[in-house]
Amino acid sequence: MNNLVNEFIGKVSKRNAGEPEFIQAVSEVAESIIPYIEERPSYKNSKILERIVEPERAIIFRVPWINDRGEVEVNRGFRVQMNSAIGPYKGGLRFHPSVNLGILKFLAFEQVFKNSLTGLPMGGGKGGSDFDPKGRSDNEVMKFCQSFMTELHRYIGPDIDIPAGDIGVGKREIGYLFGQYKRIKGEFTGAITGKGSEWGGSEIRPEATGYGLVYFVEEILKSAGNSIAGKNVTISGSGNVAQYAAEKCIQEGAKVLTMSDSQGFIYDPEGITFHRLAYIKTLKDNERGRIKEYAEKFNCAYFEGERPWKIKCDIALPNATQNELTEEDARALAANGCICVAEGANMPCTPGAVAVFNEARIFYAPGKAANAGGVAVSGLEMSQNSLRYSWSRNEVEARLKQIMKQIHELCVKYGKEEDGHINYEKGANIGGFVKIADAMLAQGLV
Ligand code: NDP
Repeated sequence: MNNLVNEFIGKVSKRNAGEPEFIQAVSEVAESIIPYIEERPSYKNSKILERIVEPERAIIFRVPWINDRGEVEVNRGFRVQMNSAIGPYKGGLRFHPSVNLGILKFLAFEQVFKNSLTGLPMGGGKGGSDFDPKGRSDNEVMKFCQSFMTELHRYIGPDIDIPAGDIGVGKREIGYLFGQYKRIKGEFTGAITGKGSEWGGSEIRPEATGYGLVYFVEEILKSAGNSIAGKNVTISGSGNVAQYAAEKCIQEGAKVLTMSDSQGFIYDPEGITFHRLAYIKTLKDNERGRIKEYAEKFNCAYFEGERPWKIKCDIALPNATQNELTEEDARALAANGCICVAEGANMPCTPGAVAVFNEARIFYAPGKAANAGGVAVSGLEMSQNSLRYSWSRNEVEARLKQIMKQIHELCVKYGKEEDGHINYEKGANIGGFVKIADAMLAQGLV
């Protein structure tokens, strides 16, 4: 079997040279999927896996705009439309200087499986730009978003491709993007999710990824006869996902010890309270400040240029970015008695780290399952837009909880090993794959 996997990854690597994150994401899926496909000739003969790793389409475009000094700036825009077998393309937009085609292909690929796991009719895509909103005025961000959408609008629509937010794209950016889309198209439709709740957005969408992550952790612990109450949790990131994961952990009686940003992390041994979390939200969302300021204000430790994985915890939630938790970090977590690692970010754990978790029998929940709550509520936003109706906060939250429970059940169905241990990675990969593969078979060679 290893030979087949290596041969397949070799071909993908050759064809996608210079895209290490994409190759990493494909390799991780191929290891679970190839043994499954080998036993099913219809998938094998139709080359379903070979087709899934090829985007249906990738669009690259120029984004020219004028900054506050009156100078012309030029960025690059992307939209990767990966797979539409089970519904229109759906996935976020990332604005970050590290964005390139390979990173967006990895994110779009993960999104295909994640969207399938939610049980909602959504294909997978991802897009963004190498534009960095950090340090830019609102006016500059608006100018950039308007130029970006002036091109992107040709390729999206409520039944075609529905973008949302991701790193660097929050409610401000979604507002400017939606405004420009509406102006160009002359119609108010649900072509973007993550909208403000006053103008077509769903209740609970801002909270959904972080809350969903914690619901997923609760399901994992419940299946092991345990619970999240009283546990020590380390979190990386201090953006959308991290903030609401922290909020839900605190609500459920856990103690959140750390949060971070791209410059360092804070360690609050007393546990971050609701009051202190409110400070972080204002600091990050309104003032666009640094996490270091938390340590100065509340007199706790700050570790410049480091990540929080050496702090002793029961549960670790990497919620910042890809490959932020290495094999060495994983060894530190295992040595400190960590029992569960769940990914709020996409692919934050390196393959070496995942191997350590498996060896140490630490529950490891991959992002495509654990952080699917965000896109799930985006899917519910699409439903509400189509109905021209909005559901209450309680109704959306109940649906989110139910979806995370169903994803957990799928992971158990496909990931339970002979000794009873649940391999969530394998479960999520196969659980996401089957529906897409069957739809692709039914729709012929397209
Ligand atoms: P935000 O932009 O709101 O926050 C990102 C956080 O991660 C910030 O704290 C940021 O620090 C930190 N960060 C970004 N890049 C790096 C880096 N290279 N090294 C260290 N820290 C970094 O993004 P989100 O919270 O929306 O997204 C976080 C992760 O969750 C991403 O992997 C995203 O793909 C994933 N995700 C998001 C979903 C959503 O609904 N938003 C849904 C599913 C997954 P700083 O402030 O210094 O930039």
